[in-house]
Formats: sequence, structure tokens, C-alpha cells
Amino acid sequence: MDEQMHESKDNKFIPMTSITSGTGQEVGNDVYYYTDQIVNMSFIGFPNEGDWVLVDAGLPNAAPEIRSVVVDRFGRDSKPSAIILTHGHFDHVGGVVELVEEWEVPVYAHELEFPFLTGEESYPEPDSTVEGGLLAKLSPMYPNQPINLGDAIKPLPSDNSIPGADGWKWIHTPGHSPGHVSLFRESDKTLLSGDAFITVRQDKLYNVLMQTEEVNGPPRYLTSDWDAAWESVKKLEQLQPNVVVSGHGHFMEGEKLTKGLRSLVENFDKLAIPDYGRYVDGQNYKQ
Ligand SMILES: [Zn+2]
Repeated sequence: MDEQMHESKDNKFIPMTSITSGTGQEVGNDVYYYTDQIVNMSFIGFPNEGDWVLVDAGLPNAAPEIRSVVVDRFGRDSKPSAIILTHGHFDHVGGVVELVEEWEVPVYAHELEFPFLTGEESYPEPDSTVEGGLLAKLSPMYPNQPINLGDAIKPLPSDNSIPGADGWKWIHTPGHSPGHVSLFRESDKTLLSGDAFITVRQDKLYNVLMQTEEVNGPPRYLTSDWDAAWESVKKLEQLQPNVVVSGHGHFMEGEKLTKGLRSLVENFDKLAIPDYGRYVDGQNYKQ
């Protein structure tokens, strides 16, 4: 594929972990998610039949680990029909360049995310001043430079379908990033929310380490448009998901999810929007 394909220029290992790192879990028969350090990636598809897709690609250097998960679940020499990116932040695209070079499969993302996936534009700097603890304080060390997927990157289809994942739709859920998408399957109301909302409190290091379950707004230090983020959470709540796998944290289902999501929608200004920070109070990065 494109010879200009490259990793982020400030790509580096992030020393951060949780007790579920290196483990995976099935959510329904054909959805599996795996935790790499502190971030989840999902595999949609049955282990021994038909197409499957990879959703997101972990932290920098995640490719070898993803390959071994693929061998365990889908067999040696198996590869996805496509990779879907919920967005292009460093902790969701870490393994993608290496995997695409090997697998030569298309990568689908929302067009508003393209500048960050084709080497054109960096995301706004993470806000290390935001209310929100150690992960925010550490955020200046996170890779911020764009990766370049060259010709491999394709726009998600305009009919909201997801190539290689029948019955699934993508939903534009901006705010955390301009082209952020969530994935939803109506038949069993399974939601992959990416970072539109997450199921762990990411500004509390203890909760990240222990993966304590609670419905929370998007990770604070990288969210640049809080009004859009609120609208996106409302959109996802209206779908009434039965089960969610988010970008960070343990999967969640049933009443805990329903109540948590309702509360997040109603109290987003108090629960999710930080009290202070660079992207708060009309100082949103214009998307
Ligand atoms: Zn993110």
C-alpha cells in the first residue's frame, strides 16, 4: 500500500496498566473485546466462520499482542476483512499501521477524522491543566502527532453500514474528537461506544487500575468540544443499548448501564464536563 504510511512521529510506549490488561472477554457469541494496558479493542465476528472486523487498535506497540489475540480467536493466518476506527487518538490507533502493512486490509473511519489519520493534522494538545488527576497530568507525554495510513484509509459508507459487519451501523458521535463514531447493532442492542462515553472513571488512577465500573463522560484531557460530546451521549442513550463495550473500562449491561447512562445524560455538566480546563467555558477547540 501507500509507501508514505507511517507511525506517529512522537510514537512511544505509555507506561500505564490495569488489572484486566492482557485479558479478553466475549460479549455475546460474536463480539469479543480485549484490553491492552488501559484501552479496549473489539473483534466482531464468529471465531470459525465468515468475515470478522477489528474495531480500534490499541496503544503504541500493540500490534504483536493483537496478532496473538487473532491467532487465539480466529486461527493462524486469519485476518479481518476490515479495521474500523472509532477515532484516531493515539490509544486507539497504536497498532494499526503495522497491522495494515501486514494484512493489507482497508481501514474505515469518519471523514472528519481523516486529517489525523493521513499525516495532515495533529489533534489539539491534550489538556494537562484540566481538572482530572494523574492521567491528565501525564498527558503531555502522549503521542499527539498524526499517523499516516495513506491509501489504506477509506470513508465509512454514507448509508451507515459497516463493511464486513452485517447488521451493524456506525453513528457519528463527535465531541471527544470531530469524527468520532460509535457502532451499534439494533437486533441485540449491542453498542461499542468508543470514547463517546466510557465505563471507568479515567481521571482517577485507582479506578483505571482496578477498572472500577461506572458510566462516565469521555476522557477529559483529550475532549475538545463538550457541547457536542453531550449531544452524542444523548443520541446513544436514545438507542437504549442492552450492553456496551467502551474504549476504556469493563463491559456493562442491564440496569447498571441504563441508569448510569440516564444519569450521565441528565447530569453531563456536573459528571462529565470538568470544572476547569482549556476546552471548557466557551473555549472549545473549533472543530
Ligand atoms: Zn480518545
